[in-house]
Amino acid sequence: MNGRGDAMRIDTMNKSTNNLQNQNGQFETKRDDCPLCASHRITPYRTITRWSIPFTVDRCAECGFIFMNPRFSNEAIKSFYSKDYFDGNAEYSYHDERRKERFALHVWEARLKVIRTFIRSGRFLDVGCAFGGFLSAASRYFEPAGIEPSEYAGSHARKKLGLQIHIGTLADHFFPYDNFLVITMIEVLEHMADPAFAVKECYRLLQKGGLLVIQTANMDGLQAKIFGENYAYYMPGHLSYFSKRTLVRLLLNAGFSRIKVFHPVEFGLLPKLKKSRGDFNSILDYRRWLRIAGYHYLSKFHAGNICATSSMVVYAFK
Ligand SMILES: [Zn+2]
Repeated sequence: MNGRGDAMRIDTMNKSTNNLQNQNGQFETKRDDCPLCASHRITPYRTITRWSIPFTVDRCAECGFIFMNPRFSNEAIKSFYSKDYFDGNAEYSYHDERRKERFALHVWEARLKVIRTFIRSGRFLDVGCAFGGFLSAASRYFEPAGIEPSEYAGSHARKKLGLQIHIGTLADHFFPYDNFLVITMIEVLEHMADPAFAVKECYRLLQKGGLLVIQTANMDGLQAKIFGENYAYYMPGHLSYFSKRTLVRLLLNAGFSRIKVFHPVEFGLLPKLKKSRGDFNSILDYRRWLRIAGYHYLSKFHAGNICATSSMVVYAFK
């Protein structure tokens, strides 16, 4: 379900045969109150029109949380995560990690190295583990388990890792509480309609001292503000849009005691450069390294809640 590393690809392939209009693209009938603080004070924020079915996102005037409102119906959301989504063939689709796994491994290993400075080994859960690539890398050090709502992606991960992969969501309660030392949700929380439930559930699944790692966009980043409605992160599957402020508040409310925010990510530039080679077709593509390096160092400029870019990774300890 999640796209690792770079944001998911907005793929225009097969638009005619597999677009959102073919996927029961219906909306919920009512507009919701804020899913984080339950406030009724909701104001329109953006209208996103570049997809075959436009959608709107609202902003809570109380806590600042941004969310799709009204949401696509549950049936429509389920239909997004089809085989075509994971293979990269749908209008709204995932960057199929299997094709470039050896390149993505550089970023996965870099992340695991940072995680292991805090927790060396133990039970490790990846929520939204997709094809299980990251979890497979983690299994060198940790005892892995994964949750993946897509039968297609999850069964692939299960072939790799065995029965520790559970097809479903956190709400299906696969595990006893106080079970894990590390839980990761990499580009997953934005897909959830009820992220507050997910974060509380992760808290309960973690042992005391355990670590939750979340990667999601920071909508307070100038990147998100400058691009406005054209910001690439507005996607039909993204229901919840955080800022550093709203995410940190959510984590504190769930009970997490120590929180570290990284801009743009918790590791250096080199693994990102190595990973990007998976997309290169010619020697000229190395020019992209300038852009990637520029973005990486631009992301280092932040003061309080003001950040140059929208990339962030949050480590929260129970
Ligand atoms: Zn709110």
